[in-house]
Parts: sequence; structure tokens; C-alpha cells
Amino acid sequence: VVSDVPILGPGREFDAIRALVAAWGTAAQGIGDDAAALDVPPGERLVVSTDTSVENVHFRREWLTPAEIGWRATMAALSDLAAMGARPLGVLSAITVPVSWQGALGDIGDGIGEAVNAANTKIIGGDLSAGGELSITVTVLGSASHALTRSDARPGDSLYVSGALGGPALALRSWLAGEAPNAAARQRFAMPHARLAFGCGLSALGCTSAIDVSDGLIADARHLAAASNVMITIDLDAIPRFPGASAADAASSGEEYELLVTAPSLTLRDFTCIGTVGAPGEKPGVIVMSGGARVEFAGGYDHFSP
Ligand SMILES: [Mg+2]
Repeated sequence: VVSDVPILGPGREFDAIRALVAAWGTAAQGIGDDAAALDVPPGERLVVSTDTSVENVHFRREWLTPAEIGWRATMAALSDLAAMGARPLGVLSAITVPVSWQGALGDIGDGIGEAVNAANTKIIGGDLSAGGELSITVTVLGSASHALTRSDARPGDSLYVSGALGGPALALRSWLAGEAPNAAARQRFAMPHARLAFGCGLSALGCTSAIDVSDGLIADARHLAAASNVMITIDLDAIPRFPGASAADAASSGEEYELLVTAPSLTLRDFTCIGTVGAPGEKPGVIVMSGGARVEFAGGYDHFSP
């Protein structure tokens, strides 16, 4: 539909934008002005997050299809809205495209559009630039009547996680060993699903805090513990595992995009109780138990670690 394609002047950059918007069809909305104007539902707050996916940092070209790269970058950003208990209002994608990737831009755009459709939201803007490495920055806007944070876990709460963890770690291990990952593990890495449907109901179910599992379950639990000034005890053996994953895989696998939440009590399909929240000792943190004994657990992804 011609009227959905932005009125832009001539030029190859603008041709590329026109092609993306035409391919997005109804997944795009109101693109072509200098900025998007949005309505936030009355009584709700605007919830905003941004997330960057960079070639050779977050993915490698030989691992994923261009459409998967677009999908994954978009779902990773949307997962932060799920963790805040927010419903998406719209998505902006800023893409830096090297010459070697220009031919794949349409497929990347398709992946972005499919993820946006799956999340029942719209692409409301973006930016396109030339550059040295493929980079996709997705900004997500959402709204919530009560945004969940990391800082309100309370002693006496229990800790719950959605899904079964470890699939992305299995896929990554195979790729790094030069092998093809099994299809199910590869799918968990390549096509994650933000837990948006769960996220927006969590606050009404009494959840006190939430985070999405992006660095690894234990590492993300440490973020919760620090923000809430509590001691979290996790039963390593209780963490639901993706088929073939070890307990350590499940505890450390990153980019799962499952939700880790605290609540006095939570009975919800797909959530498993894996620990408890207590008052901090000398400092807040995470204690990992296995077979009744405390185990040391290092790890979690840190971009700035050597
Ligand atoms: Mg997050």
C-alpha cells in the first residue's frame, strides 16, 4: 500500500528505507516523520529500553541467517519490556549496515518485522547508517500500570524462573567447537521469544521484582540481589533444564530471555520455584546450593571482562 511507505526524497538510503517499510507492511506504523507520536494508556507509565546487537559480539554471521539476526535483536529488546511487566507500544530499529551486508538488509528487516508481529506491536521508526560492522539497536517502548523493577524483592519471597534453561549454551558450545548444534538448541539461540504474555500479568499476581535472563540465571539473580539488598539462595538442582543441558549449563546460559521473578507465592504455568529470598548477611548476594551443600559458582557474561 503506497500510503504506508514514507514520503522521502530520492537516494539509495531512502530507497532502502522504502523497501524495508514496504516489506513490513502493517507491521510498520506512522514512519516518515521526524519522530513518532504515541499515546500512553491513561493511568499507565511509559517504559523504555534499548538493546544493541553487534556482529562478532552477540552473534556471528556463519551461525545465523539474516532474518534470525533481525528477529533475535528485536526479541532481546522486547524481553526487557517483559521483565518490567510492560506491554509493548512500539519498536524503533537503528541499523548500521556494512557494504558486505547490504544485500541481506531485506532479510534482516523481515526478521525484525516477524518479531514485531509476534509481539503484537508495531515498528514506529528507526535509522539506517553505513558502517564497519553490522549493528542493530532496537529501542522498545511500552507501558505498565505498575512497572516491575529489580529492587523490590523482599525477604520471605520465593524465586521463580520461566521455561527450561541451557539451550543457548548448548548451541554456543557446538558452534565454538566447529560443530552444528542440534536443531532444538539452535532454535533457542536463534529465535528466542520474549515472555511478554507473562510479563504484563506478573504484577497483578503479586510478583515483587523481575529481571530477564540475559547474562545467565545466577548472574542475573546477583543483579536482583544487589538491587533489592537481599540474599538469594538458589537450588541448582531445581533449575529446569533444556534437554541435554547440565545444571551448570542451565545456571549460566545467557540470552535465554526467560523471566526470573520473586513473589511471596506464584502458581503460574511454566514457572518453577528455584530458590528463596532472605535478609542479607554482611552484603547482598546469591548462595548456590546443590545436594544440600553450598557450591561456588563463578560466571555470567560481562562485556568488559578481559
Ligand atoms: Mg534485561
